[in-house]
Amino acid sequence: MRVRFSISKEHKMNLRTLAEKFKDIYLIEPQGMSSAPGRVNIIGEFTDYNDGFVLPCALEFRTVVLFRAREDTKVNVHSLDYPTEKDSFTVGEKIISGPSQWGNYIRAIVFVLIRAGYSLRGVDLLIDSNVPQGAGLSSSAALEVAVCGAFNQIADLGLTAQRIAVYGQEAENDFMDCQCGIMDQLISAKGDEGKALLIDCQSLETESISIPEDLILVIINSNYPRKLVDSEYNQRRLDCEQAAAKLGVATLRNASMDKLVSIESKLTVNEFKRAMHVISENNRVIKATEALQRNDIDSLRELMSASHQSLKDDFEVTVPETDGLVEICQGVLGDKGAVRMTGGGFGGAIVCLCRSEDVLKVKSAVDDNYEKQFNLKADVYVCKAGEGLKVISL
Ligand code: ADP
Ligand code: MG
Repeated sequence: MRVRFSISKEHKMNLRTLAEKFKDIYLIEPQGMSSAPGRVNIIGEFTDYNDGFVLPCALEFRTVVLFRAREDTKVNVHSLDYPTEKDSFTVGEKIISGPSQWGNYIRAIVFVLIRAGYSLRGVDLLIDSNVPQGAGLSSSAALEVAVCGAFNQIADLGLTAQRIAVYGQEAENDFMDCQCGIMDQLISAKGDEGKALLIDCQSLETESISIPEDLILVIINSNYPRKLVDSEYNQRRLDCEQAAAKLGVATLRNASMDKLVSIESKLTVNEFKRAMHVISENNRVIKATEALQRNDIDSLRELMSASHQSLKDDFEVTVPETDGLVEICQGVLGDKGAVRMTGGGFGGAIVCLCRSEDVLKVKSAVDDNYEKQFNLKADVYVCKAGEGLKVISL
């Protein structure tokens, strides 16, 4: 039995109505559709920008971009999620931030593609998405990858999925000022249905790992309002870089726990704690990948629980709301499920891996306890692993 509840996974419009909407706005039919998913990270948090390992999977939630090339150099963008706002800019001019916060993600992609030497023409775009925004499920990467996929098709750039992911990351790093790693964009570009992706963030090599059929992904958004996230996020990255420098390695991927412990006194308390998390987390990703392949819920529980604890104590990115959700869910699942926070932290979501017969128990436990304790309502999503970037002609 597959249980589905809460938040609809339907898009606001089906493809036909969306195409009609496109025609209403631009007075011409769309020529294609590019779509890319949000993601959930099973394990490997804050390891990507330290060149380490991560194990995310793409979701069935997707961001859809309808597009048509223009004869001139204008880029026009509408999003059904922001119906009163549109963005418009010219590819021939210097790309700078515009008045629309969300429109800047499209500018960011154009900025990095032009910087990379590609010549682009104008395009009309219409966006629809059912990826929850700001929930730690990476709606921003879904948008970047889908938009880059559209430009790839229109201008025949010949970009691989990996290259599209790298441009998505550059857009976020160099234009949006968020120093995220490669994970979100790479899983959004390369996700495989029913599979997680083990990513080596140093080589960008990936390996698809089947998620056992009887293992369900339950994602619970705490709906805790995330504040000061970018500055905290960027500070964590700096702590990691400084720890790596003191350890004499390019990135924490190449540091050992023994060496870290031996030079503890040379590091600040925060540098030491951040490095502890990253080095131990890399190790957990490899073990969790093997556990997933064996469908070994006991090992997954231990590893995901240790990951959460490390994110709470050493990386210090959890909040009482996400700690509380983990406690509620692990409490009701006992030895039948594995639970931890997922995504960029400071709120956002938690992820549970459990069997289908336990999904309703998780949902009820959250309904009965979370709002009472934290005065917030949580959203529960029951998901399967979806597929990555897809571009089609219409
Ligand atoms: P997350 O990636 O965790 O969802 P972010 O803050 O990184 O959270 O990205 C959310 C931002 O991405 C939104 O504020 C908006 O600017 C942009 N975005 C995401 N989805 C859409 C969409 N469907 N239409 C327009 N902008 C979007
Ligand atoms: Mg994001």
